[in-house]
Amino acid sequence: HHPERTTVWVGPAGHQVPIGPDTFTFAAGPCAVESAEQTMEAAAMAKSAGATLLRGGAFKPRTSPYAFQGLGVAALEILADVREATGMPVVTEVVDARDVPVVADHADMLQIGTRNMSNFSLLQAVGRAGKPVLLKRGMTSTVEEWLMAAEYIAQRGNLDIVLCERGIRTFEPSTRNTLDLSAVPVVQASSHLPVIVDPSHAAGRKDLVVPLSRAAIAVGADGIIVDVHPDPEKALCDGPQALLGQELRDLATAVRRLPPAV
Ligand code: PEP
Repeated sequence: HHPERTTVWVGPAGHQVPIGPDTFTFAAGPCAVESAEQTMEAAAMAKSAGATLLRGGAFKPRTSPYAFQGLGVAALEILADVREATGMPVVTEVVDARDVPVVADHADMLQIGTRNMSNFSLLQAVGRAGKPVLLKRGMTSTVEEWLMAAEYIAQRGNLDIVLCERGIRTFEPSTRNTLDLSAVPVVQASSHLPVIVDPSHAAGRKDLVVPLSRAAIAVGADGIIVDVHPDPEKALCDGPQALLGQELRDLATAVRRLPPAV
């Protein structure tokens, strides 16, 4: 129970990024960290489009065990260097409770991905890590289950939780998942936590990222998190959903033209 909606601050003093009701946070970066050069280029694209928070996967929970699984700790070090160079706080996913300390040492925000939303021991571990958490909705989870997952984190003393709607499984195959935008106002009616939207992972297609981002603003989301890549065709992970630099700048312009919902 909380009387007012919360703002979560991400990053070190002097570079803190707010996520909450008084702002619209734009996070962008590569789906996966593939090399120092690719991450630096993607971060530069994100920054020049106006993004203030850098995303990038170090540990990648792929559907196929034969797909690129991420560079792990080497990627965390690249992300920390890129944060140093750009001043952008970093959010990255943690998939194993044993890795929480090393991820918390390198990143400003810990992401729990859709596949781990109900991994309760992992939720408890990030609840003790002392860093803000980006909690994605499980692709087969109800809003109530998602909010209860947030309680697992909060119960360990960490109230710096941002929720992220990233699509749910339905019978519709045109998109990878169905972005459930109704979840945004539904969550806001019963929770004080900020809620952002990931149109890239929901759709799996870059042509839908702009319209879904505009829709996210219209329903009152507190921000978006978007994939960008300097060479999407060669991306080791989720290339079809990644925007190029100019496309990300066009997205930022399209998004700015819409006033946030009240
Ligand atoms: C991601 O953001 O890198 C990711 C894998 O997202 P999701 O857990 O929503 O699929």
